[in-house]
Parts: sequence; structure tokens; C-alpha cells
Amino acid sequence: MARLPMRIVPDPILRTRAKRISNIAPSLQRLIDDMVETMYAEDGVGIAANQVGVLQRVFVIQLPEDEEPRVLINPEITRREGTREISEGCLSIPGYRGMVTRSEKVRAKGLDRNGKLVRIKAEGLLAQALEHELDHLNGTLYVDHLIEKDQIWKLDPHEEEPDEDEPSENPAPPHSPGYLQYLRRTAIAEP
Ligand SMILES: [Zn+2]
Repeated sequence: MARLPMRIVPDPILRTRAKRISNIAPSLQRLIDDMVETMYAEDGVGIAANQVGVLQRVFVIQLPEDEEPRVLINPEITRREGTREISEGCLSIPGYRGMVTRSEKVRAKGLDRNGKLVRIKAEGLLAQALEHELDHLNGTLYVDHLIEKDQIWKLDPHEEEPDEDEPSENPAPPHSPGYLQYLRRTAIAEP
């Protein structure tokens, strides 16, 4: 297994729809193992393939209370019930959290790593993680679901602000002064 480098915004792969998997090949098993290792190393509850640079429809999720990672290939959400407002972060948008609307309960299905059909009934953090990771495979980020465009914040409020905000044609790199602005623009520009 190998830890893979995380793709972070504004990497365009995070805005690209991943392709359906038609063959459960050994290379896919390696990818899944690497995604699990990367999720552990990054201390996340889930990782979608785009986040490690692969446009295939697979994600892994492991909640703190889970003993094993959940693997879902070609996942679909078949039912959503209720809504709730909750804070959310993403390994591809390091250092930030935002307030989003998510479903209270979801039902999902997909294939496990052996190609067997799995159905999941979820609520709470698992429902949130399923929606978040499936979004990734569709090129959607949580900043697209912000309740208000300014409801996103830096995790460390005591971080020193640089003196000058240099305007740029290009999206700002992470943690530069324009980054938060960039995230808000992203949320508006890409439904
Ligand atoms: Zn994410």
C-alpha cells in the first residue's frame, strides 16, 4: 500500500466527473488499498478517487466507530430524507469548514471491492459522508452547498494575515489571502 498525494482545490480534477467502473481489476484493488492508507494518513473519514487523482467511481469511508473501511464502487444514493444544517470540511480544501445543508437520512447502494451489491441505510455522519464522497465523484464540492456564501471559515482564526492581498488572474493557492474569496466564488460559479 502507498500513501497517495492529495489533490486540493483548485485542481480541476476535483471538478471533473469520474467514470463508471466496469471491471474490478487488480489495479482497482491496489487503488482501494492506497485510498484507505491515504485516508488513515490524512485522518479523514472518507476519500473519493478524484481526490487522489483517479477519475473512477469509487470511494472509501471509515467513521471513528467503524472497524473496517467501507468501499463503494459505482455508488448511487437511492433515497434522501429530511434536511439538516451542519458544518463540513474536506481534505481537498484544507484549513476550512463551512455550513452546509445535508440530508438527515440516505439510502445508498453500490458494489463492494469484490463486486458484490451493497445497500446502506445511513443517518448522521455516515449519511453526510456518503453524500460528500458521492459529490466528489460528480465534481461537486461542499462549498457548492454552503447555506450562505460567507458561511465558510478558516479553522485557525489566529493565523497571521499577510499585509497585502495581491489580485491575480489565477485562482489563489491554498491559504493565500484570496483563497477564501476563491472558495466563495467557486461556490457561486459552479452549481
Ligand atoms: Zn471531500
